[in-house]
Amino acid sequence: MINFHRVSKQYPPDTAALHEVTFSIGAGEMIAIVGTSGAGKTTLIRLLITEERPTSGTISIADWDISKIHRKDVPLLRRQIGVVFQDFKMLPQRTAAENVAFALEVVGTDTPTIKKIVPEVMSIVGLDKKHELFPHQLSGGEQQRVVIARALAHRPKILIADEPTGNLDPDNAEEIMRLLKKINEFNTTVLLVTHNLEAVRRLKSRVLRLHEGKLIGDYPHLTNT
Ligand code: ADP
Repeated sequence: MINFHRVSKQYPPDTAALHEVTFSIGAGEMIAIVGTSGAGKTTLIRLLITEERPTSGTISIADWDISKIHRKDVPLLRRQIGVVFQDFKMLPQRTAAENVAFALEVVGTDTPTIKKIVPEVMSIVGLDKKHELFPHQLSGGEQQRVVIARALAHRPKILIADEPTGNLDPDNAEEIMRLLKKINEFNTTVLLVTHNLEAVRRLKSRVLRLHEGKLIGDYPHLTNT
């Protein structure tokens, strides 16, 4: 599903944010990307969503070479990839359901389709009874679920979660991890970027470890040793 082949990203004048990184992620896999600050995790995501282009190497998603993707095809690609960031951004004047609907409205989805998809994705994230609540009436964990529901509204093939539990207490964090696992079990490829090694251990997913721009480990799962 995702292939990086000898991908390097250099920022001027001489920062090697990624250096000759090669890996493959299969369709339906769940994978955690770990590494200390400055390891290149954000750069890797920005390359995947074509916010940045690699300096060298190739990146493909499905059969699509995205290192050479044409600008006009970028929105189409972005819709295949749902992204959830740490600082959940909801529209404060809209209800939870309207926040999800908005993501579909902006790409011109028709109203009957929106009315069908919104309850479906709200149900997946366990917020059936919270459609009409505004962001300030939701807990941090619930807001993050709305953001995940919004990312799922386009039925992406890939979900990228960048430190999705960074601002949450342990219980809410655990809930979000469980939700990501459930989404993965429905056959969405999930990429989780995190500092939280304990959560990654519990997840028992494959792990890529980056350090100073290099891929230094690719493990079937993290162990305590
Ligand atoms: P991480 O997300 O793992 O903390 P990043 O991908 O943000 O790592 O950064 C990797 C390296 O690239 C760091 O040394 C960082 O300072 C550098 N870097 C990231 N983005 C830019 C940029 N836009 N311009 C210059 N250097 C950058």
